[in-house]
Amino acid sequence: MNSRRDFLQKLTASVIAFNFFPGYGSSGIKNFYSESNEDPVLRVAIMGLGSYGTRVAEAMQSCKRARLTGIISGTPAKIKNWQDKYNIPANNCYNYDNFDGIKDNPEIDAVYIITPNALHHNQAIRVARAGKHVICEKPMALNAREGQEMIEACKKANVKLLVGYRMHFEPKTLEIIRMRKDGELGKILFFQGLCGFRIGDPSQWRLNRQLAGGGSMMDIGIYAVNGARYMVGEEPVWVTAEETKTNPEKFKEGVDETIQFQLGFPGGAVASCLSTYTMNNLDRFFLNAEKGFAELQPSTGYGPIKGRTNKGELNQQHVTHQTVQMEEMAGIILEGKQPIVPIDGEEGLKDLKIIDAIYLAVKTGKKVDLKL
Ligand code: NDP
Repeated sequence: MNSRRDFLQKLTASVIAFNFFPGYGSSGIKNFYSESNEDPVLRVAIMGLGSYGTRVAEAMQSCKRARLTGIISGTPAKIKNWQDKYNIPANNCYNYDNFDGIKDNPEIDAVYIITPNALHHNQAIRVARAGKHVICEKPMALNAREGQEMIEACKKANVKLLVGYRMHFEPKTLEIIRMRKDGELGKILFFQGLCGFRIGDPSQWRLNRQLAGGGSMMDIGIYAVNGARYMVGEEPVWVTAEETKTNPEKFKEGVDETIQFQLGFPGGAVASCLSTYTMNNLDRFFLNAEKGFAELQPSTGYGPIKGRTNKGELNQQHVTHQTVQMEEMAGIILEGKQPIVPIDGEEGLKDLKIIDAIYLAVKTGKKVDLKL
């Protein structure tokens, strides 16, 4: 009850702040309220103005319930560009040294962390301590221990922690989940998740263990891990995994190039997945069940996602994933809305536990039991 009351107080504070701070209007940030002029809007600062941060910012321009009101960046030239492009006042611009100051900024409700993986843990904890909601890109952290610490920091600060699992709002994905839940597919027997692309520049952070925390598994294989869970609809109880490396020069110690992994589920279903940085055109989910099947290809790219089931083609409309994700996240943070597939810290932590187990299985060559 307390946390709900605190949450409502925060929400009220943010609404009151809008009403009583005339600076909001003059700051050039428009439309704090959706067109109905009733629903509060989530005011978001993006941390890390890189390739995905840019995509999210663009997608947010079409949001009614979420607005880009701040930025956090280590690159002054980007800050200037983004200020001009998105009309962001100087007071809402921060760097990595001073962003703890957002605690005193009533124009920012949440920070969306879109930096290299290894930075998420510390940055999320600092955002939480500043009293702002945390939205964090996948992988949420480098391992389960870090993920747990982030959850605890957010709990302690009474802020929400959400992970950028955009597929959880994708219409064709949701239709398959609906079919499974409604029993139209019958008992789930098998899932296959193939996730990969051919990575370029060897000097990028994704191939630096310190910043990436691993290789393809942390970056793209996580889609198969997460997808296996929402497609099968259960939590895995064991994992086996094998790694292969064709280019040890490019994929150094601790940076996995290709990992095949298998998951076992309590209902008897098994999953067989591939994560790689060496193959293009690898983006496919396949679900086999007693009464039918479901297939998505591409399954996790930016879309359009394509798919079919034993009943025919899936024809749900393509949406811009990041726009829908931010609209839904606004509903989750501001109204406590419950998504069909969770996107909270616990959800991110489950994936990290599985990834920890996959790396352990690669190292030991043994089956690893899981308790999620
Ligand atoms: P980029 O390299 O394009 O951008 C990362 C940004 O982080 C940089 O531009 C920089 O922004 C900031 N940064 C801070 N410290 C560092 C550092 N030491 N090295 C490099 N950059 C730093 O990466 P992406 O945008 O592709 O990925 C960022 C995160 O988003 C990752 O966790 C990734 O897994 C996730 N992601 C998620 C996707 C999804 O579909 N959900 C898709 C792509 C990525 P600045 O100059 O402003 O400080």
